[in-house]
Amino acid sequence: MLTSDKFHDECGVVAIFAHPEAEKLAYLGLHALQHRGQESAGIVTSDGLTSRVHKAMGLVAEIFTEDVLSKIRGTLAIGHTRYSTAGDSALLNAQPILVQSNKGSIGVAHNGNLTNAAEVRSRLERQGSIFQTNSDTEVIVHLIALSREHTLPEAIADALRRVEGAFSLVLMSPDRIIAARDPRGFRPLAMGRIPALEGQKRDTIVFASETCAFDLIGATYERDVKPGELIVVGPEDVTSRFYSTDAPQSSCIFEHVYFSRPDSMVFGRAVQTSREELGRQLAREAPVEADLVVPVPDSGVTAAVGYAAESGIPFRFGLIRNHYVGRTFIEPSQSVRDFGVKLKLNPVRSLLQGKRVVLIDDSIVRGTTSRKIVRMVREAGAKEVHVRISCPPTISPCYYGVDTPTKEELIASSNTPEEICRYLGADSLGYVSLPALRQAVGDPDGAFCTSCYTGIYPTDLVQLEVREGNGNGTLGIGMRDTSPGTLEDSPRTERPVTVEREV
Ligand code: SF4
Repeated sequence: MLTSDKFHDECGVVAIFAHPEAEKLAYLGLHALQHRGQESAGIVTSDGLTSRVHKAMGLVAEIFTEDVLSKIRGTLAIGHTRYSTAGDSALLNAQPILVQSNKGSIGVAHNGNLTNAAEVRSRLERQGSIFQTNSDTEVIVHLIALSREHTLPEAIADALRRVEGAFSLVLMSPDRIIAARDPRGFRPLAMGRIPALEGQKRDTIVFASETCAFDLIGATYERDVKPGELIVVGPEDVTSRFYSTDAPQSSCIFEHVYFSRPDSMVFGRAVQTSREELGRQLAREAPVEADLVVPVPDSGVTAAVGYAAESGIPFRFGLIRNHYVGRTFIEPSQSVRDFGVKLKLNPVRSLLQGKRVVLIDDSIVRGTTSRKIVRMVREAGAKEVHVRISCPPTISPCYYGVDTPTKEELIASSNTPEEICRYLGADSLGYVSLPALRQAVGDPDGAFCTSCYTGIYPTDLVQLEVREGNGNGTLGIGMRDTSPGTLEDSPRTERPVTVEREV
């Protein structure tokens, strides 16, 4: 995985209900989710009465020392690790957000991107709301505070009916954890359980973006929070309600292609299984005579295992990744060609010399990094380099919580595979088809979002935005209503259907 020329992960969230060391479990959970965001991280805790927060720029292990964690001890915690998709990259926008409101203290951690945030924010500002950040998540906080509903869960449900786009949320009051997903279920959110410790009355309930966080804290995966569902974990019980039920599911297929860790269950399916099957599909759809299957590490590895198994061509680590590359490196003044890529990857010449190589990667975004890797493999002595990509050509940006270049920057938006192959300097180029991708992730019913491969978006505001040509996927979306308005102008979807006691 060379992140300079990739779609960027969004954010990771975690929540812990009722554990004597909730802050430490949240910290460990965030550590497991570090791949979902490396700019900032934060934890809000509660001891049942008082909420505390600590957040900072940097990596989870750098931010949370023993000393810091001892100052935010609590039995409830929510945590967030951030890569900015809306709002600037700054401590101001780090999450979780913790506010005091007329509904009491509320902490919020959000993975996703609201497609009508600018429109709602502008309306709220005209009513007098003062925003502290430029993150879209704060819109949800204001809507909760302004809601006329009397209980916090109902106020949250009310707020969520007024926003559109992608949101997997964990929220915290002093004595409750609330977890919710948007009606289309764009981003993942799983629920798990840790058996009660001796002397503890109840099991600990946990939520996380990916189940790899559960493994580290000894939790067992139970189920996903469903699209449109709101789960409240309180001192008495766990309840589930659906604040919205009419939207077709659009879970992000890219979570299975690239974002999520292969050791996670995402949308109820093992990511490892999907990626290996993608490699097999790729071998069936884009076969080639070759001597070695070589992954671009790390994200191409699992698909390469599948390609090798299906094709019978031996799998070899022909590129070695340096895992210890920091943020900045001093380049020699006599600049080295492809310095950035060489810092992170090095070819194994003894393996590649004279070989016909199938190079497997998970995606091509701008193509600039792929071109350098192909050149690197050739210069290491490979006789032929055949590039195989374990997803379809990426032609359109994401508006649902993923940082992507503009459409113009996506090489596949305006070039044919033949043209891209020539640009990369490869002997051949092959992709997985969209039907094969759907099959590989177990999606016969079309319940996944595939917009970055099709350019067809499941939400109205994005369709409008695409037609109008602002493809940056940020707060600018849907900014077209300039009339004065009230909260009641914010359209809501239907009323909640049921509230069920779960445990
Ligand atoms: Fe995922 Fe692509 Fe849809 Fe964004 S547009 S949610 S990255 S599938």
